[in-house]
Amino acid sequence: MLAHATVIDTTGGPSIRDVVVVVEGNRVKAVEPAGRATLPKHARVVDATGKYVIPGLWDMHTHLFSHVDRPGTNRSAWAFPLYVANGVTGVRDLWTDPDDIATARRWNELRAQGTLLAPHLEWSSRIVDGDPPHIKGAAVVTTPDQARQLVEELKAGGAGFIKTYWNLRREVFFAIAEQAKKSGIPFAGHVPSSVSAFEASDAGMKSIEHLTGIEETCSTRSDEFQRIPPEKWTPNLGDLVARRAFETFDEKRCADLFARFARNGTWQVPTLLLLQSLGLAQEAGIASSPALEYVPTFVREKWPVRDGAGRPLALRRARFARLLRFVGDLHRAGVGILAGSDFGNPLMVAGFSLHDELALLTEAGLTPLQALQTATRNVGVYFGRNDIGTINQGSVADLVILDADPVVDIRNTRRIAGVVLGGRYVDRQELQALLDGLR
Ligand SMILES: [Zn+2]
Repeated sequence: MLAHATVIDTTGGPSIRDVVVVVEGNRVKAVEPAGRATLPKHARVVDATGKYVIPGLWDMHTHLFSHVDRPGTNRSAWAFPLYVANGVTGVRDLWTDPDDIATARRWNELRAQGTLLAPHLEWSSRIVDGDPPHIKGAAVVTTPDQARQLVEELKAGGAGFIKTYWNLRREVFFAIAEQAKKSGIPFAGHVPSSVSAFEASDAGMKSIEHLTGIEETCSTRSDEFQRIPPEKWTPNLGDLVARRAFETFDEKRCADLFARFARNGTWQVPTLLLLQSLGLAQEAGIASSPALEYVPTFVREKWPVRDGAGRPLALRRARFARLLRFVGDLHRAGVGILAGSDFGNPLMVAGFSLHDELALLTEAGLTPLQALQTATRNVGVYFGRNDIGTINQGSVADLVILDADPVVDIRNTRRIAGVVLGGRYVDRQELQALLDGLR
């Protein structure tokens, strides 16, 4: 149990000072004022005077399995220590093949038994794409019938949700949406280039990753962009469309879109750090982050240098400024935002990048508490669970103990004094040992 802690109320209330958080097994048994708490006998007491306790953080967009660079392998050996050392106690994996699902289940079991220091995993499915697929290894579907059948197969194989991708044709995407609804499985991912973000939201897409489709849909030329067939898309054309979309931005259309997301309950996982890294990795310091030293050399060696790729710097800056503005506007429109790092991509580092993402969300206009909610309370709402993302009696015992108040400054989520992982207390020395072991 933690004594004399200040508990941050991620539902939005004021922080609660001098309380005792009693943990039993893998659950929070009680949260009580220090004076009134009945302490269990033989309990391990951690003095948390002057410390702040938050629910364990979630990275809502990660890639623990390698499908492209080293198929058949996963990144757990170095990602799990980084996640735990950074207070990330839950992750949502965005490309999970059937055999990966078996692995993820095993990890969760070992974690629950206390034999694996790892975040809890939620997973998706194989990436479902059109022809030609945007990425090697995706499941390709070209007809509505195939799509319906694949949704059924993926669901039967234990998928958490259906992950959609760029090159799905309209009728195929809508067939996925319809079948997913019928079968009772969510679908989420990229808004394919053939549909507008209005249509994706109306079709019931649960979450949109990387703000996909928003720049295009907020343009007066949206219809024209949608008619570009998948096989025509190249990086150069993508750049051109982004530029045209930027120039033909329609404020009113965008406000309508965000209101639609709010009405439909469409979540956004902006992955701002990733988007910033695509054009501004040098100037934002992402390419020189000290956290990169924890990334194995064999991984770093394969990272392409793609900063800017010859596009004008002024445009890259202006586009990212607009993406930040989108996130602030989405939040003010009442759209649910979730923090995700897109770990698995170049320059993204498990755990560390999530703290960077939270900081970027405050740059977009969220308060530190609202940014914290995107990795805690909002996660519980997204999964429809009231036992994660908040600290109450019955909550899962995944907690982070901080040396400084994250509500004052979101950067304080990095000042980790200890982590409670599935009820087990991992102190600062042990966390440091996890990091040192990777050097
Ligand atoms: Zn991703």
